[in-house]
Amino acid sequence: MQNRESVLPRLKNIFLNQTRIKKNKHILAGLALFVCGAIVGNLITSPAIKKDTSQQVITLEEEYLNEADYRPSDDLALGNPPEPELRPEPELRDVSIKRGQGMMDTLISNGAKRTDAYNAIKALSKHYDMKKLQIGQTLQAVYDAQGRLSGLNMRKNFDHMIRVNRTEDRFDARLEDLPSLKLTRHVQGVIEDNLFLSAYREGLPNSVIVDMIRIFSFDVDFQREIRKGDRFEIFYERKISEDGHRVEEGNILYARLTLHGKPISLYRYKPAKAHFADYFHENGQSAKKALMRTPIEGARLSSYYGRRKHPVLGYTRMHKGLDFSAPTGTPIMAAGDGIVERASRYGSYGNYVRIRHNGTYKTAYAHLSKYGRGIKSGKRVKQGQIIGYVGATGRVTGRHLHYEVFMNGKQVNPLRLKIPTGITLKGKDRQKFLTRAGDIDHRITVKKQNILLTWNQEVAMNDSGAQDTLPHLQLP
Ligand SMILES: [Zn+2]
Repeated sequence: MQNRESVLPRLKNIFLNQTRIKKNKHILAGLALFVCGAIVGNLITSPAIKKDTSQQVITLEEEYLNEADYRPSDDLALGNPPEPELRPEPELRDVSIKRGQGMMDTLISNGAKRTDAYNAIKALSKHYDMKKLQIGQTLQAVYDAQGRLSGLNMRKNFDHMIRVNRTEDRFDARLEDLPSLKLTRHVQGVIEDNLFLSAYREGLPNSVIVDMIRIFSFDVDFQREIRKGDRFEIFYERKISEDGHRVEEGNILYARLTLHGKPISLYRYKPAKAHFADYFHENGQSAKKALMRTPIEGARLSSYYGRRKHPVLGYTRMHKGLDFSAPTGTPIMAAGDGIVERASRYGSYGNYVRIRHNGTYKTAYAHLSKYGRGIKSGKRVKQGQIIGYVGATGRVTGRHLHYEVFMNGKQVNPLRLKIPTGITLKGKDRQKFLTRAGDIDHRITVKKQNILLTWNQEVAMNDSGAQDTLPHLQLP
């Protein structure tokens, strides 16, 4: 910083002429830093930089120096101006959207003039859908030496910053790329107590664990099926901002649970005609499985879900299922894959079967004349498998199937249920999927090899464990 002394007087003049700001140690330091080629970080997102007044000035000064018609000689020729009016230094202020406030109110309540706020927001909205604005969202308002709103900085997403800048009374917005590194992490471990805690101990962030549980939720009942000694494995994306201050967890590319020695593997893939990527088993079957809405073929829906006068008891009560009228002996199918939770007489339900499909959904079938072959408590069933036959056992006026769907322990209307459809990839889609799955397998193998190769190095590329890949990062 030895050249600071020599450049300061000249810069001081330039700056004072341009902005009429009283000299200020912070500003001078900022200017010197700028001349020295200091890198301006991401002002909004880096807490470390945000508070540093000197660097805030840099951004402002940069704008002036970048003006096309600006010639330093003009300033120098003018000499020192009369002592400028006292104003606080230009300011970057973090503002956040409060409940009941729009962006307009927010800026005005932070000292912006209505027209300035309006024009700045108009410019901003070229790059941002203002309808997506959320309570608590933050942005940076920039005020010039006169205290006028002179710009806005708002992060659009992890990779983009919107910068609104004022020129005279005009506001223009531009989208700035925020460079980042995209990495993949491979993490595996043994489940000691539950998946969440075990995965957390291996350094997986909450958001990724929640995501992992979600993608397995159609296959696994996390309450009951996880046992000590079961294993998990996950391969997912992570983005890191170039300055290393921000981390964004990305998509899970592959995840595997091995429960009682049986592996369930899921790969992320976007089918050709789909709008979104989804997760598929290695055979190309979607992880999301539909529950069949009608677990019986050729039956007539004779009673709907809702309040009705009970045909036997006579008073009005809630009918918590659907009734299907069909001849005695008509086969009834399991609405989805799952485990039989009960297959026995159950009060007014008569012969009754209940299947647990995952942690969220169960289905129940009542008044059966008899049970399907081998159907008993604890038995695993496939979607479409016959679990019983229509009858008239229990408290009924005639033969029918009473069908219930439980969501988180409560009966819901099966006709209103929005359960995603399960698909199986076919043809070219299947070929592409298999290629991609093979590619992911290969990348994981390479990762594992790298871990072994660098095991003894100080900064091991060991991302199978905790957050040791980039030790300097401030991870959330
Ligand atoms: Zn019924």
